[in-house]
Amino acid sequence: MRAVVIETHGGPEALRIVERPDPEPGPGEIRVRIRAVALNHLDLWVRKGVPGVRYPLPLIPGCDGAGLVDALGSGVDGPAPGTPVVLAPGTSCGRCEACARGEDPLCRHYGILGEHRDGTCADFIVVSAANVLPKPESLSFEEAAAVPLPFLTAWHMLMERARLRPGETVLIHAAGSGVSTAGIQIADLLGARILATAGNDAKLEKAEELGAEAGINYRTGDWTRAVRELTGKRGVDVILDHIGGDTWDGNIKSLAKGGRLVLCGTTSGREGTTSLPHVFFKSLSLLGSTMGSRSELYEILRLVERGLLHPVIDRVLPLSEVAEGHRVLEDREAIGRVVLTPW
Ligand code: ZN
Repeated sequence: MRAVVIETHGGPEALRIVERPDPEPGPGEIRVRIRAVALNHLDLWVRKGVPGVRYPLPLIPGCDGAGLVDALGSGVDGPAPGTPVVLAPGTSCGRCEACARGEDPLCRHYGILGEHRDGTCADFIVVSAANVLPKPESLSFEEAAAVPLPFLTAWHMLMERARLRPGETVLIHAAGSGVSTAGIQIADLLGARILATAGNDAKLEKAEELGAEAGINYRTGDWTRAVRELTGKRGVDVILDHIGGDTWDGNIKSLAKGGRLVLCGTTSGREGTTSLPHVFFKSLSLLGSTMGSRSELYEILRLVERGLLHPVIDRVLPLSEVAEGHRVLEDREAIGRVVLTPW
């Protein structure tokens, strides 16, 4: 098969296209022929490398994908070869207490396709049968590949961690990203009031189209002042953030009493300074979140099937242009997902 492989960390040139033997499904596993891959910010971290994090190189990147069942390992009785499927990006032991509770991201052995083991940027992938979910019939392969990781992340942040409720006000940062375009739709479905920030007006227009009431351009003014004005000095109930360092202090100040800040990434910096009196005087909750459970992905796919949530796709490129896909994501050009199809 053909595959994108990272042998050493580096720039886009570290993404090499090579020939590899087709992977064989072992007991309990399924081989899927990939028809579409969607890139995530995580793919950039894996390619560049992160100090203190050891990735199992050489590695095929790609966390999200959709395709056709190609072969079944022993002990697996379906779905039949040829069935269209979408891949759950998270892997876990399936046996421990966290897994039994349906909180697989808290499993000690939790991993993500394309980060801890070979991912979707190839003709084939072999995964545990538990990672193979039916593709919503109403979606193309490109659309189906664009659902799992960002929707799972945003769903878990808003529904499970922050417990966003109808009528509350939520601030969603970096509105053009995959996680945020998903978060805006989930908050809108729930009946929350949505404020969104982004670095350009096209991204804010898209945010408003998806359900945001007001867009705030953080390049043309002080976003914390805009939040204060838009909430009558009250602040917001929930903030969904994956920017980190640059927004941390402003987030603490922008939360209303009883507010919840939920963080799933640090694209701008890993350190933040916290005014501790704000935390206790306002009874704030500072919450971390990573991925979401496989059971949540089933809920999401049902809502996608019914047309209540839908992936936002910026562009579709051939897999041979994976380096260009990374560049688009890295330069923050995309509104929604960058999808790759073979080859
Ligand atoms: Zn486990």
